[in-house]
Amino acid sequence: MLLRSVYGGRERYLNAHVSQGSWPVLVLNADFRPLSYYPLSLWSWQDAIKAVFLDRVNIVAHYDQAVRSPTLEMQLPSVVSLKSFVKPTTHPAFTRFNVFLRDRFACQYCGSPEDLTFDHIIPRSKGGQTTWENVVAACSPCNLRKGNLTPAQAKMFPRQHAFAPTVHQLHRNGRLFPPNYLHDSWLDYLYWDTELDP
Ligand SMILES: [Zn+2]
Repeated sequence: MLLRSVYGGRERYLNAHVSQGSWPVLVLNADFRPLSYYPLSLWSWQDAIKAVFLDRVNIVAHYDQAVRSPTLEMQLPSVVSLKSFVKPTTHPAFTRFNVFLRDRFACQYCGSPEDLTFDHIIPRSKGGQTTWENVVAACSPCNLRKGNLTPAQAKMFPRQHAFAPTVHQLHRNGRLFPPNYLHDSWLDYLYWDTELDP
């Protein structure tokens, strides 16, 4: 199962993978904020229970589901918080998902949300690097049209300057694309809770 969000009638996939039938556990930092948003910090219930027994986390919320052994019955945690604070990263990873999120899932040449891929502003064949500053979301038709040309040659310019976003900027854009797979017990800890239920 993927965490999904719907935008403009089309499904957008957040890059937090949750396998079918599993009970993913939202992992909060010691300050009760998610350890990370992109991807959302999730553990398997097995890892979460291990961490409980190693005394590394507190259980914040439960699923109704329980696991049983001959000597123990335990409700599966749905939210845990770390006992010691981990300094969060301020610089988001340069990933496909994060580039799309920075560019709000829209082609930077025509604005289309369809058939998105990536474009090197300065083509690789002309020495362009694969970096935040040189990669933008682009639809396949624009990407094909631009080909191996520079923006000046193709007369195609990105709508916004390509930049390395901060975590804050990605969070702000993330509010526009809330996932529709969220366990109820997670909502209090995710910034988009108020967006889902105004
Ligand atoms: Zn386009």
